[in-house]
Amino acid sequence: MAQQILMLPGDGIGPEVTKQAEKILAWLSENSDTVFEVSEALIGGAAYDAYGTPWPEETAAACRKADAILLGAVGGPKWESLDISVRPERGLLAVRKELGLFANLRPAMVFDELADASTLKREVVAGLDIMIVRELTGGIYFGEPKGIENLPDGTQKGYNTLVYTTPEIERIARVAFDLAAKRDGRVCSVDKANVLVSTELWRNTVERIQRDEFPKIELSHMYVDNAAMQLVRNPKQFDVMVTTNMFGDILSDCAAMLTGSLGMLPSASLGAADSDVCNALYEPVHGSAPDIAGQDKANPIATILSLAMMLRYSFGMAVEADALEAAIRAVLVQGLRTGDIMQEGASLIGTEAMGNAVLDALVEAYALAKAA
Ligand code: NAD
Repeated sequence: MAQQILMLPGDGIGPEVTKQAEKILAWLSENSDTVFEVSEALIGGAAYDAYGTPWPEETAAACRKADAILLGAVGGPKWESLDISVRPERGLLAVRKELGLFANLRPAMVFDELADASTLKREVVAGLDIMIVRELTGGIYFGEPKGIENLPDGTQKGYNTLVYTTPEIERIARVAFDLAAKRDGRVCSVDKANVLVSTELWRNTVERIQRDEFPKIELSHMYVDNAAMQLVRNPKQFDVMVTTNMFGDILSDCAAMLTGSLGMLPSASLGAADSDVCNALYEPVHGSAPDIAGQDKANPIATILSLAMMLRYSFGMAVEADALEAAIRAVLVQGLRTGDIMQEGASLIGTEAMGNAVLDALVEAYALAKAA
Protein backbone atom coordinates (compact mmCIF):
# COMPACT_ATOMS: atom_id res chain seq x y z
CA MET A 1 0.00 0.00 0.00
CA ALA A 2 1.26 3.48 -0.82
CA GLN A 3 2.42 5.71 2.03
CA GLN A 4 0.63 9.06 2.10
CA ILE A 5 3.04 11.96 2.58
CA LEU A 6 1.63 15.41 3.20
CA MET A 7 3.88 18.33 2.29
CA LEU A 8 3.33 21.60 4.13
CA PRO A 9 5.81 23.89 2.33
CA GLY A 10 4.76 27.02 4.25
CA ASP A 11 6.45 30.37 3.66
CA GLY A 12 9.73 31.95 2.60
CA ILE A 13 12.31 29.30 1.70
CA GLY A 14 9.88 26.53 2.81
CA PRO A 15 8.62 25.74 -0.74
CA GLU A 16 12.15 25.79 -2.19
CA VAL A 17 13.60 23.33 0.33
CA THR A 18 10.62 20.95 0.47
CA LYS A 19 10.70 20.73 -3.34
CA GLN A 20 14.17 19.15 -3.11
CA ALA A 21 12.88 16.52 -0.65
CA GLU A 22 9.95 15.84 -2.96
CA LYS A 23 12.33 15.00 -5.82
CA ILE A 24 14.01 12.43 -3.57
CA LEU A 25 10.67 10.94 -2.52
CA ALA A 26 9.67 10.61 -6.19
CA TRP A 27 12.94 8.80 -6.93
CA LEU A 28 12.54 6.47 -3.94
CA SER A 29 8.99 5.73 -5.00
CA GLU A 30 10.32 4.44 -8.34
CA ASN A 31 13.42 2.72 -7.00
CA SER A 32 12.69 1.32 -3.51
CA ASP A 33 10.07 -1.19 -2.32
CA THR A 34 7.87 1.60 -0.96
CA VAL A 35 5.54 3.80 -2.97
CA PHE A 36 4.92 7.32 -1.72
CA GLU A 37 1.89 9.39 -2.70
CA VAL A 38 2.60 13.04 -2.09
CA SER A 39 -0.01 15.74 -1.57
CA GLU A 40 0.28 19.33 -0.44
CA ALA A 41 -1.59 21.72 1.86
CA LEU A 42 -1.21 25.31 3.01
CA ILE A 43 -0.02 26.38 6.46
CA GLY A 44 1.23 29.62 8.01
CA GLY A 45 1.26 32.88 6.06
CA ALA A 46 0.43 31.16 2.75
CA ALA A 47 -2.69 29.68 4.36
CA TYR A 48 -3.60 33.04 5.89
CA ASP A 49 -3.43 34.68 2.45
CA ALA A 50 -5.72 32.03 0.95
CA TYR A 51 -8.12 31.33 3.84
CA GLY A 52 -7.66 34.11 6.43
CA THR A 53 -6.25 31.60 8.94
CA PRO A 54 -2.80 29.98 9.30
CA TRP A 55 -4.46 26.63 10.11
CA PRO A 56 -7.40 25.99 7.76
CA GLU A 57 -9.70 23.03 8.38
CA GLU A 58 -8.67 21.59 4.96
CA THR A 59 -5.07 21.42 6.22
CA ALA A 60 -6.07 19.95 9.58
CA ALA A 61 -8.08 17.22 7.82
CA ALA A 62 -5.21 16.42 5.43
CA CYS A 63 -2.76 16.26 8.37
CA ARG A 64 -4.92 13.86 10.35
CA LYS A 65 -5.06 11.28 7.58
CA ALA A 66 -1.46 11.44 6.33
CA ASP A 67 1.06 8.72 7.22
CA ALA A 68 3.76 11.37 7.76
CA ILE A 69 4.12 15.11 7.25
CA LEU A 70 7.08 17.12 5.95
CA LEU A 71 6.94 20.80 6.81
CA GLY A 72 9.14 23.60 5.40
CA ALA A 73 8.89 26.72 7.56
CA VAL A 74 6.36 29.43 8.36
CA GLY A 75 6.41 33.17 8.95
CA GLY A 76 7.88 36.32 7.49
CA PRO A 77 7.70 40.12 7.66
CA LYS A 78 4.53 40.21 5.53
CA TRP A 79 2.48 38.75 8.42
CA GLU A 80 4.31 40.23 11.41
CA SER A 81 1.73 42.94 12.12
CA LEU A 82 -1.21 40.51 12.19
CA ASP A 83 -3.03 39.78 15.42
CA ILE A 84 -1.21 37.02 17.34
CA SER A 85 -4.21 34.68 16.95
CA VAL A 86 -3.70 34.49 13.16
CA ARG A 87 0.09 34.82 12.87
CA PRO A 88 1.75 32.07 10.78
CA GLU A 89 3.44 30.50 13.85
CA ARG A 90 -0.04 29.67 15.21
CA GLY A 91 -0.22 27.04 12.47
CA LEU A 92 2.82 25.29 13.92
CA LEU A 93 1.40 25.18 17.46
CA ALA A 94 -1.92 23.97 16.07
CA VAL A 95 -0.47 21.05 14.10
CA ARG A 96 1.54 19.84 17.13
CA LYS A 97 -1.50 20.10 19.41
CA GLU A 98 -3.97 18.62 16.93
CA LEU A 99 -1.81 15.54 16.33
CA GLY A 100 -0.63 15.16 19.96
CA LEU A 101 3.05 15.37 18.97
CA PHE A 102 4.61 15.10 22.43
CA ALA A 103 8.19 14.08 21.55
CA ASN A 104 10.56 16.41 19.74
CA LEU A 105 13.67 14.74 18.37
CA ARG A 106 16.60 16.95 17.47
CA PRO A 107 19.75 15.22 16.31
CA ALA A 108 22.96 17.25 16.37
CA MET A 109 25.32 15.70 13.84
CA VAL A 110 28.55 17.18 12.61
CA PHE A 111 29.78 16.03 9.23
CA ASP A 112 33.60 15.96 9.36
CA GLU A 113 33.74 18.19 6.26
CA LEU A 114 31.89 20.95 8.16
CA ALA A 115 33.57 20.63 11.56
CA ASP A 116 35.33 23.97 11.05
CA ALA A 117 31.95 25.77 10.83
CA SER A 118 31.42 25.26 14.59
CA THR A 119 32.55 27.91 17.04
CA LEU A 120 34.05 25.08 19.09
CA LYS A 121 37.36 23.39 18.31
CA ARG A 122 37.28 20.79 15.52
CA GLU A 123 38.39 17.96 17.86
CA VAL A 124 35.47 18.68 20.24
CA VAL A 125 32.78 18.42 17.53
CA ALA A 126 34.14 16.36 14.59
CA GLY A 127 32.06 13.18 14.29
CA LEU A 128 29.48 14.39 16.83
CA ASP A 129 26.20 12.44 16.69
CA ILE A 130 23.82 13.07 19.58
CA MET A 131 20.03 13.07 19.85
CA ILE A 132 18.08 15.39 22.11
CA VAL A 133 14.57 14.23 23.00
CA ARG A 134 12.45 17.08 24.31
CA GLU A 135 9.00 16.69 25.87
CA LEU A 136 6.88 19.02 23.74
CA THR A 137 3.32 19.27 25.05
CA GLY A 138 3.65 19.51 28.85
CA GLY A 139 5.72 21.09 31.59
CA ILE A 140 6.01 24.74 32.46
CA TYR A 141 4.97 26.02 29.00
CA PHE A 142 1.48 24.60 29.45
CA GLY A 143 1.09 24.12 33.24
CA GLU A 144 -1.77 25.77 35.14
CA PRO A 145 -2.14 27.98 37.05
CA LYS A 146 -0.26 30.69 35.24
CA GLY A 147 -0.74 34.41 35.04
CA ILE A 148 0.11 37.89 36.22
CA GLU A 149 -1.80 39.19 39.26
CA ASN A 150 -2.06 42.59 40.83
CA LEU A 151 -1.20 42.50 44.53
CA PRO A 152 -2.81 44.68 47.24
CA ASP A 153 0.43 46.63 47.77
CA GLY A 154 0.38 47.77 44.11
CA THR A 155 3.10 45.37 42.94
CA GLN A 156 2.43 42.42 40.62
CA LYS A 157 3.06 38.67 40.74
CA GLY A 158 3.85 36.57 37.64
CA TYR A 159 3.82 32.78 37.84
CA ASN A 160 3.91 29.56 35.81
CA THR A 161 3.57 25.97 36.98
CA LEU A 162 6.01 23.18 36.22
CA VAL A 163 3.78 20.13 36.19
CA TYR A 164 4.29 16.58 34.88
CA THR A 165 2.19 13.48 35.40
CA THR A 166 3.65 9.97 35.39
CA PRO A 167 2.03 9.00 32.03
CA GLU A 168 3.57 12.07 30.40
CA ILE A 169 7.02 11.15 31.72
CA GLU A 170 6.64 7.45 30.94
CA ARG A 171 5.80 8.00 27.26
CA ILE A 172 8.69 10.39 26.59
CA ALA A 173 11.08 8.09 28.47
CA ARG A 174 10.00 5.18 26.25
CA VAL A 175 10.69 7.25 23.11
CA ALA A 176 14.21 7.99 24.38
CA PHE A 177 14.95 4.36 25.35
CA ASP A 178 13.59 3.05 22.04
CA LEU A 179 15.85 5.46 20.17
CA ALA A 180 18.87 4.54 22.26
CA ALA A 181 18.24 0.87 21.47
CA LYS A 182 18.72 1.74 17.76
CA ARG A 183 21.84 3.84 18.50
CA ASP A 184 24.59 3.47 21.10
CA GLY A 185 22.34 2.20 23.92
CA ARG A 186 22.80 5.14 26.32
CA VAL A 187 20.30 7.66 27.70
CA CYS A 188 21.13 10.67 29.85
CA SER A 189 18.04 12.10 31.55
CA VAL A 190 18.34 15.79 32.36
CA ASP A 191 16.45 17.35 35.29
CA LYS A 192 16.86 19.67 38.26
CA ALA A 193 15.77 17.13 40.86
CA ASN A 194 17.86 18.76 43.58
CA VAL A 195 15.60 21.85 43.51
CA LEU A 196 12.38 21.11 41.58
CA VAL A 197 10.21 18.38 43.09
CA SER A 198 8.32 17.81 39.84
CA THR A 199 11.61 16.82 38.23
CA GLU A 200 12.28 14.47 41.16
CA LEU A 201 9.16 12.65 39.91
CA TRP A 202 10.67 12.87 36.40
CA ARG A 203 13.90 11.22 37.59
CA ASN A 204 12.18 8.44 39.56
CA THR A 205 9.79 7.66 36.70
CA VAL A 206 12.53 7.52 34.03
CA GLU A 207 14.50 5.21 36.34
CA ARG A 208 11.50 2.88 36.82
CA ILE A 209 10.80 2.64 33.06
CA GLN A 210 14.44 1.78 32.42
CA ARG A 211 14.49 -0.88 35.17
CA ASP A 212 11.19 -2.50 34.16
CA GLU A 213 11.21 -2.17 30.37
CA PHE A 214 14.68 -1.34 29.06
CA PRO A 215 17.21 -3.07 31.34
CA LYS A 216 19.82 -3.23 28.55
CA ILE A 217 19.92 0.54 28.07
CA GLU A 218 22.48 2.42 30.16
CA LEU A 219 20.79 5.29 32.05
CA SER A 220 22.51 8.26 33.66
CA HIS A 221 21.09 11.45 35.18
CA MET A 222 22.43 14.97 35.00
CA TYR A 223 21.29 18.31 36.42
CA VAL A 224 20.45 20.77 33.66
CA ASP A 225 23.14 23.30 34.61
CA ASN A 226 25.82 20.63 34.38
CA ALA A 227 24.29 19.29 31.13
CA ALA A 228 24.60 22.74 29.50
CA MET A 229 28.23 22.88 30.57
CA GLN A 230 28.99 19.32 29.41
CA LEU A 231 27.37 19.98 26.02
CA VAL A 232 29.99 22.59 25.21
CA ARG A 233 32.86 20.92 27.12
CA ASN A 234 32.59 17.39 25.76
CA PRO A 235 29.41 16.83 23.71
CA LYS A 236 30.59 13.48 22.34
CA GLN A 237 30.06 11.87 25.78
CA PHE A 238 26.28 11.80 25.04
CA ASP A 239 24.18 9.45 22.93
CA VAL A 240 20.50 10.25 23.66
CA MET A 241 19.51 13.04 26.08
CA VAL A 242 15.90 13.21 27.30
CA THR A 243 14.47 16.17 29.11
CA THR A 244 11.51 18.43 29.92
CA ASN A 245 9.94 20.95 27.56
CA MET A 246 11.80 24.03 28.81
CA PHE A 247 15.17 22.38 29.44
CA GLY A 248 14.93 20.74 26.01
CA ASP A 249 14.11 24.05 24.35
CA ILE A 250 17.32 25.55 25.71
CA LEU A 251 19.64 22.54 25.42
CA SER A 252 18.58 21.72 21.84
CA ASP A 253 19.46 25.23 20.65
CA CYS A 254 22.78 24.94 22.45
CA ALA A 255 23.41 21.57 20.74
CA ALA A 256 22.35 23.08 17.40
CA MET A 257 25.11 25.64 17.63
CA LEU A 258 27.70 22.89 18.15
CA THR A 259 27.13 22.05 14.50
CA GLY A 260 27.56 25.68 13.46
CA SER A 261 24.99 25.63 10.71
CA LEU A 262 21.24 26.14 10.82
CA GLY A 263 20.85 24.86 7.26
CA MET A 264 21.97 21.35 8.29
CA LEU A 265 19.66 20.61 11.25
CA PRO A 266 16.63 18.31 10.92
CA SER A 267 13.96 17.49 13.51
CA ALA A 268 11.03 15.19 14.12
CA SER A 269 7.95 15.58 16.31
CA LEU A 270 6.27 12.30 17.19
CA GLY A 271 3.00 11.30 18.83
CA ALA A 272 1.77 8.01 20.29
CA ALA A 273 2.58 4.94 18.18
CA ASP A 274 -1.05 3.76 18.42
CA SER A 275 -2.54 7.18 17.59
CA ASP A 276 -5.53 7.08 15.22
CA VAL A 277 -4.33 10.27 13.48
CA CYS A 278 -0.97 10.94 11.82
CA ASN A 279 1.70 10.75 14.51
CA ALA A 280 4.80 12.14 12.86
CA LEU A 281 5.87 15.52 11.54
CA TYR A 282 9.35 16.20 10.19
CA GLU A 283 10.82 19.66 9.62
CA PRO A 284 14.10 21.54 9.41
CA VAL A 285 14.99 23.48 12.56
CA HIS A 286 15.46 26.75 10.66
CA GLY A 287 12.77 29.33 9.91
CA SER A 288 11.53 30.80 6.65
CA ALA A 289 14.70 32.89 6.06
CA PRO A 290 12.92 35.82 4.34
CA ASP A 291 16.30 37.45 3.61
CA ILE A 292 17.16 34.75 1.04
CA ALA A 293 13.70 33.48 0.04
CA GLY A 294 13.02 33.02 -3.68
CA GLN A 295 16.70 33.46 -4.61
CA ASP A 296 17.79 29.81 -4.93
CA LYS A 297 20.20 30.34 -2.02
CA ALA A 298 18.68 28.22 0.76
CA ASN A 299 20.40 25.06 1.93
CA PRO A 300 17.94 22.17 1.48
CA ILE A 301 20.05 19.67 3.48
CA ALA A 302 18.20 20.20 6.81
CA THR A 303 14.95 19.31 5.01
CA ILE A 304 16.52 16.33 3.23
CA LEU A 305 17.90 15.09 6.57
CA SER A 306 14.38 15.51 8.00
CA LEU A 307 13.19 13.26 5.17
CA ALA A 308 15.88 10.72 6.17
CA MET A 309 14.43 10.78 9.71
CA MET A 310 10.98 10.16 8.25
CA LEU A 311 12.22 7.13 6.31
CA ARG A 312 13.90 5.77 9.45
CA TYR A 313 11.26 6.45 12.11
CA SER A 314 7.93 6.40 10.26
CA PHE A 315 8.63 3.70 7.68
CA GLY A 316 11.48 1.60 9.13
CA MET A 317 13.51 2.25 5.95
CA ALA A 318 16.94 2.26 7.61
CA VAL A 319 18.81 1.27 4.42
CA GLU A 320 17.29 4.16 2.48
CA ALA A 321 17.85 6.61 5.37
CA ASP A 322 21.50 5.54 5.69
CA ALA A 323 21.93 5.88 1.91
CA LEU A 324 20.44 9.38 1.94
CA GLU A 325 22.80 10.47 4.73
CA ALA A 326 25.71 8.90 2.86
CA ALA A 327 24.66 10.83 -0.27
CA ILE A 328 24.77 14.11 1.65
CA ARG A 329 28.21 13.23 3.00
CA ALA A 330 29.38 12.44 -0.56
CA VAL A 331 28.18 15.82 -1.83
CA LEU A 332 30.05 17.58 0.98
CA VAL A 333 33.18 15.56 0.19
CA GLN A 334 32.86 16.73 -3.44
CA GLY A 335 33.18 20.28 -2.08
CA LEU A 336 29.69 21.42 -3.09
CA ARG A 337 28.29 24.07 -0.74
CA THR A 338 25.35 26.45 -0.41
CA GLY A 339 26.20 29.94 0.89
CA ASP A 340 25.54 29.21 4.57
CA ILE A 341 28.17 26.44 4.68
CA MET A 342 30.58 27.93 2.11
CA GLN A 343 34.28 27.36 2.75
CA GLU A 344 37.44 28.43 0.97
CA GLY A 345 38.17 26.26 -2.06
CA ALA A 346 34.62 24.84 -2.22
CA SER A 347 32.12 25.37 -5.08
CA LEU A 348 29.11 27.58 -4.36
CA ILE A 349 25.83 26.14 -5.65
CA GLY A 350 22.13 26.97 -5.23
CA THR A 351 19.16 25.15 -3.70
CA GLU A 352 18.14 23.31 -6.87
CA ALA A 353 21.67 22.25 -7.71
CA MET A 354 22.21 20.99 -4.15
CA GLY A 355 18.98 18.97 -4.34
CA ASN A 356 20.07 17.49 -7.68
CA ALA A 357 23.58 16.71 -6.40
CA VAL A 358 22.15 14.82 -3.40
CA LEU A 359 19.81 12.91 -5.70
CA ASP A 360 22.69 11.97 -8.04
CA ALA A 361 24.79 10.81 -5.07
CA LEU A 362 21.81 8.86 -3.70
CA VAL A 363 21.64 6.71 -6.84
CA GLU A 364 25.16 5.47 -6.14
CA ALA A 365 24.83 5.32 -2.33
CA TYR A 366 21.60 3.31 -2.55
CA ALA A 367 23.10 0.81 -4.99
CA LEU A 368 26.06 0.35 -2.61
CA ALA A 369 23.80 0.06 0.46
CA LYS A 370 21.63 -2.58 -1.20
CA ALA A 371 24.65 -4.57 -2.35
CA ALA A 372 26.15 -4.57 1.18
P1 NAD B 1 15.61 31.85 10.22
O1 NAD B 1 15.97 30.47 10.66
O2 NAD B 1 14.54 31.95 9.21
O3 NAD B 1 16.92 32.60 9.65
C1 NAD B 1 18.06 32.90 10.44
C2 NAD B 1 19.28 33.11 9.51
O4 NAD B 1 19.71 31.85 9.02
C3 NAD B 1 18.96 33.96 8.28
O5 NAD B 1 20.08 34.74 7.97
C4 NAD B 1 18.71 32.96 7.19
O6 NAD B 1 19.02 33.42 5.88
C5 NAD B 1 19.65 31.81 7.59
N1 NAD B 1 19.10 30.51 7.20
C6 NAD B 1 18.05 29.85 7.79
N2 NAD B 1 17.81 28.70 7.15
C7 NAD B 1 18.70 28.62 6.14
C8 NAD B 1 18.94 27.68 5.11
N3 NAD B 1 18.21 26.55 4.99
N4 NAD B 1 19.93 27.91 4.23
C9 NAD B 1 20.68 29.02 4.33
N5 NAD B 1 20.51 29.96 5.28
C10 NAD B 1 19.53 29.76 6.17
O7 NAD B 1 15.20 32.66 11.54
P2 NAD B 1 14.62 34.13 11.70
O8 NAD B 1 15.25 35.05 10.69
O9 NAD B 1 14.72 34.43 13.12
O10 NAD B 1 13.07 33.99 11.36
C11 NAD B 1 12.50 34.27 10.08
C12 NAD B 1 11.03 33.87 10.12
O11 NAD B 1 10.93 32.46 10.31
C13 NAD B 1 10.22 34.51 11.26
O12 NAD B 1 8.97 34.85 10.76
C14 NAD B 1 10.13 33.41 12.30
O13 NAD B 1 9.00 33.54 13.11
C15 NAD B 1 10.06 32.18 11.43
N6 NAD B 1 10.52 30.94 12.07
C16 NAD B 1 9.83 29.81 11.73
C17 NAD B 1 10.26 28.58 12.23
C18 NAD B 1 9.52 27.36 11.78
O14 NAD B 1 8.75 27.43 10.83
N7 NAD B 1 9.74 26.22 12.38
C19 NAD B 1 11.38 28.51 13.06
C20 NAD B 1 12.08 29.69 13.35
C21 NAD B 1 11.64 30.89 12.85
